Amino acid sequence: MRLISLLLIALGTAAQADSVNVYSSRGESLIRPLFDQFTEQTGIDVKVLSADPGALLSRLRLEGSATPADVILTSDAGNLAAAKDANVLQAVDSDILESAIESSLQDKDNQWFGVSMRGRVVVAANRVDPSEDPASIMDLADDKYEGRICVRSSSNVYNQSMLAGIIINHGEQAAETWAQGIVKNFARIPEGNDRAQINAVAEGKCDFAMINTYYLGIMLSDPAQAPNAREVRVVFTDQASTGNHANVSGIAMTKHAKNKVAAQKLMEFMVSESAQTWYADDNHEYPITANAKTSALVKSWTPDDVKFDKAAVANLGAYNAASVKIFDRVGWP
Ligand code: FE
Repeated sequence: MRLISLLLIALGTAAQADSVNVYSSRGESLIRPLFDQFTEQTGIDVKVLSADPGALLSRLRLEGSATPADVILTSDAGNLAAAKDANVLQAVDSDILESAIESSLQDKDNQWFGVSMRGRVVVAANRVDPSEDPASIMDLADDKYEGRICVRSSSNVYNQSMLAGIIINHGEQAAETWAQGIVKNFARIPEGNDRAQINAVAEGKCDFAMINTYYLGIMLSDPAQAPNAREVRVVFTDQASTGNHANVSGIAMTKHAKNKVAAQKLMEFMVSESAQTWYADDNHEYPITANAKTSALVKSWTPDDVKFDKAAVANLGAYNAASVKIFDRVGWP
């Protein structure tokens, strides 16, 4: 009798260890094929709850130790740092993650790990002469860009992290002066997402915009959106100094993960060749591991010797609050 109940307990534990629960800011339909590969390789089932990054973090906070989430998969170093600050993550010591991901693209306390890299770039309308392209992101604050710039709202973490990068590289005062200059150069009050900015440039509402490059990949892959995407060119700035602003999407283990072994296996799977190829080919992002290949489409706008500001990435979250205050002070809605 006792043996049987021990066996049942053992089976129960084994069954539990065969699944992992993920809170994901990527839509389930998008990421399901990748998780199915993981299940095929390991026998571990993946359950996904999808929501935007802010909602995922609030949920983790509210659920506390009762959370079913083992792993969180989210975008932007700002969001990853916010989760760490909210004390809902735990450190993971993994030789696989440590050796696959360069140190500037992971948390110094191993509480989160970048799994893909993205560039936030300037796009210019093809009708604009390339001699007008900014060499530095800082140049966009110059008078010659007055009334010519489209960019989304400052409530978006992409802009908050971009400004955080400017604070890191140039200091808070210069960052505020820059943000003031951008507001002065707005072609319109910020509206819409990154794709809306690309459309606005294509439609002649502005000459320059700031966007994450994978949105170009999404648009170019969709016959309905491709014509507008073909009207712009990518400008990588700050190539002679810090490199173009870079950011990551990343993965972390929750503080109260119940399936820790399976969770770590899933995290390690995200730097495998198949997962990195998925980020490159299906998401139009930059793979993060040294041996993974950037997709042909992404390569079409990315020079081989492009320089990204990887050094700032792990510190972006630390300047999020400062950048939000600057946006408020300069009236960037
Ligand atoms: Fe995005």
